Amino acid sequence: MTFEYDLKSSVRTIRDYPKPGILFRDITTLLGDARAFRQAVDELVQPWAGNKIDKVAGIEARGFILGGAVAHQISAGFVPIRKRGKLPHTTVRIAYSLEYGLDEMEMHADAILPGERVILVDDLIATGGTAEGAVKLIRQIGATVVAACFIIDLPDLGGAAKLRAMDVPVRTLMAFDGH
Ligand code: AMP
Repeated sequence: MTFEYDLKSSVRTIRDYPKPGILFRDITTLLGDARAFRQAVDELVQPWAGNKIDKVAGIEARGFILGGAVAHQISAGFVPIRKRGKLPHTTVRIAYSLEYGLDEMEMHADAILPGERVILVDDLIATGGTAEGAVKLIRQIGATVVAACFIIDLPDLGGAAKLRAMDVPVRTLMAFDGH
């Protein structure tokens, strides 16, 4: 399959948001462009087309938008991974590291079954702390993380390398230098 569209040009960069020194990679411009959105979803799942995937897990909040589209595309179920306190039923929970300190994320305990094959989706991987927490949560249930997919990689922050060191295949569609 060939992809015609230059996805990188559809991502908007906002300097000093949410705080000085950060280059915020804004994917709302990509999502708002019909061709770019479709191509991003197609490209994210291309290596696993034809593989049996039971669930797509999306990380709050931008991972919900992409993960929902990916799940529909590959006829898998969608599972939200949310910040603590947002899910109504019994959850499994894990602490994960942020730039400063710790936070907790949750998933419904019955959302993924032991042995299921899961693809993890988020918009961007930076230090990998968020995705690492999500991988541990899925593995804690006894399911397999078949891959982790992100539109954007910030390779200088080492997140993709961290996931690969955990034996998670990582798919990213573009990279930006720096952080
Ligand atoms: P990390 O846990 O460091 O890999 O951070 C990944 C999470 O933070 C993702 O959910 C991203 O949406 C968000 N994030 C981190 N850095 C950026 C950035 N420069 N631009 C946009 N989102 C970011």
